[in-house]
Amino acid sequence: MFIDSHCHLNFPELSNKIDLIQDSMHINRVTHALVANVGKKSIDSLISLVSKHNNLLASIGTHPEYDVDEEFSIDEICSIASLNKKIVAIGETGLDYYKCKDYLELQRERFRIHIRAARILGFPLIVHTRSSAIDTIKILKEEKADEVGGVMHCFTESWDVAKEAIDLNFFISISGIVTFKNAFAVHELALKVPLDKLLIETDSPYLSPEPYRGKLNDPSNVIYVAKKISELRNIDIEEVGKHSTKNFFDLFKISP
Ligand SMILES: [Zn+2]
Repeated sequence: MFIDSHCHLNFPELSNKIDLIQDSMHINRVTHALVANVGKKSIDSLISLVSKHNNLLASIGTHPEYDVDEEFSIDEICSIASLNKKIVAIGETGLDYYKCKDYLELQRERFRIHIRAARILGFPLIVHTRSSAIDTIKILKEEKADEVGGVMHCFTESWDVAKEAIDLNFFISISGIVTFKNAFAVHELALKVPLDKLLIETDSPYLSPEPYRGKLNDPSNVIYVAKKISELRNIDIEEVGKHSTKNFFDLFKISP
């Protein structure tokens, strides 16, 4: 079996066909998916979606690309998270210096708030980092994120950065980018990340893996991520499924 550790099933292009997607997940033996929140405006609809489906889980947080009107306070995160059993993580959070160069200080301050909320709740973090690895690692250390750990999602940084994150109690999640021909850094990661530190994800509706590149992505496609990793490591795809599934349950403290 396989688990999609990061998707955006609540986005309208996917939530409109949730039953079809659940059927495809069933066929591909994708048993669970974690729906990552990107901000305040969508948290209610996200919670209502995951509440209707046993196999869906949620996180709470504001994506680094989003503006102040999507912001939660620490108190809001803590109260919403403690009221909803389906919320198992804080995120997605982190830093993105590639896409948004305007409000870097806001991103860093928000990232710190998310880590503080995660430590209060004892929840793991879902971290997005792009063109910002040095600051991401620095803030994780300063805010003692290793106390709660988490996952570096859709990870595309170097193996050296991955090692630093692993030392801080983080898992590394590989997305459909691993199936792209020229994604050499991600190929290297897929080979080197220890199996007990590996998660897999789609980040759907984005980043469809080969052979569906360019089409709409959904959690059932996470098997193509597992397949490519198994080919690169020269192991059975079931091994990738077994380890990444166990890691998911361990990290998000879910009983299978
Ligand atoms: Zn995402």
